[in-house]
Amino acid sequence: MTVHQNLIAGEWTGANGVENINPSDTNEVVGLYAQASVDDTKAAIAAAKAAFPAWSRSGIWERHVILKKAGDEIMARKDELGALLAREEGKTLPEAIGETIRASQIFEFFAGEALRLAGEVIPSVRPNIGVEITREGLGVIGIITPWNFPIAIPAWKIAPALCYGNTVVFKPAELVPACSWAIVDILHRAGLPKGVLNLVMGKGSIVGQTILDSPDVAGITFTGSTGTGKRVAAASVEHNRKFQLEMGGKNPMVVLDDADLNVAVEAAANSGFFSTGQRCTASSRLIVTEGIHDKFVAALTEKLKTLVVDNALKAGTHIGPVVDERQLKTDTDYIEIGKKEGAKLAFGGEVISRDTPGFYLQPTLFTDATNQMRISREEIFGPVVSVIRVKDYDEALATANDTPFGLSSGIATTSLKHATHFKRNSEAGMVMVNLPTAGVDFHVPFGGRKGSSYGPREQGKYAAEFYTTVKTAYTLA
Ligand code: ADP
Repeated sequence: MTVHQNLIAGEWTGANGVENINPSDTNEVVGLYAQASVDDTKAAIAAAKAAFPAWSRSGIWERHVILKKAGDEIMARKDELGALLAREEGKTLPEAIGETIRASQIFEFFAGEALRLAGEVIPSVRPNIGVEITREGLGVIGIITPWNFPIAIPAWKIAPALCYGNTVVFKPAELVPACSWAIVDILHRAGLPKGVLNLVMGKGSIVGQTILDSPDVAGITFTGSTGTGKRVAAASVEHNRKFQLEMGGKNPMVVLDDADLNVAVEAAANSGFFSTGQRCTASSRLIVTEGIHDKFVAALTEKLKTLVVDNALKAGTHIGPVVDERQLKTDTDYIEIGKKEGAKLAFGGEVISRDTPGFYLQPTLFTDATNQMRISREEIFGPVVSVIRVKDYDEALATANDTPFGLSSGIATTSLKHATHFKRNSEAGMVMVNLPTAGVDFHVPFGGRKGSSYGPREQGKYAAEFYTTVKTAYTLA
């Protein structure tokens, strides 16, 4: 098997490949991927630093053409890249193709944004002086990504970084290097100058830490766990650099007595269990008012019975495997914790086998949970959801907001009054009415509050807040 190499200063390099294993079939090696060393990572940072002056002054048409070419190629190869994604991460093929299309759309969006860069010209308060306000790229951006969206998250960080004239050192998650390698290959062939985009695959403790420790990295954008996010923050304060964090969620979905039962069940099943619950926007707390509680639990349980857990590539699979053995252990540990805490296991809870050896877990629903239980407070990141019974809307809202996180929230209701109140008072960055808490557009801001996020929003026009720095220039007329 050929080793997929790192890209440093425009050259593919590295020999020692590590196996990328398919979680739907652990006998299958998806590919071999090089592991960067501390020195490789330093070389990548140096290359990005050297490439910055020219790239930050490159024409907007050049940036447009490269980003557009990348978007077009990703779209043309959506089935192949989607299958690669499904094989390395384990989400179902339709989900994986959908994510690939989204990655393409993100490149198309920022290809357009490159042509719309603009500033402001305003009069000074002093006579005969003009003031210009412009945005400039920051410099070298370190991009550190997680395993759960192997193509979309790299796309939504790389595309704006390049659009606004930054150069990049990109470190994907260890578990999913294949899609990252593919998009770097696509961008490299689309004509990026040497050193503008560098790929360093490997361990967080080696590659990631070297990025954190470098004084030459002007900004870090990170998506991953709260623990690593705190390290990124501490190191960035030390180096006086800009940073942006997207971390966990414990997203509530409120179901009110007046909800359309079908809408509520579909939204809960989708956002609780699809993508194997491995989305930071997944609903893991279903907060249900008394009048609909039993009907809702019965209907959701019936729905869960119909969901097929199997190999991600098999037609008809609704839920693929858990990403790896370590995450499966986390999930099953939390299932045990939930039982011990006194929640009632209403559905699932078992590790299951399929024709191919993989990390298969039944969708798992707890009822009779309280909001103080660990299963209701800590992010599990698996197909494990708890139902919390509440008296009325006021208790539902208070319970929804009683969490260390604040990424996404949802409400199922036919009441305009409650929907409007919830949109205004939910302490989350994204609020969904009669929709799953997961599943967002690519051209509008993404991000949360409290322990979920730090720094400016990602995606859409708002991405400019992180990837640029503002300059105010005064000229005597
Ligand atoms: P998860 O538990 O979901 O894998 P992590 O926060 O460990 O979340 O991983 C998210 C990303 O952060 C991965 O690319 C990982 O390699 C990287 N990472 C882990 N440890 C460090 C570290 N000390 N410094 C920088 N990056 C790290």
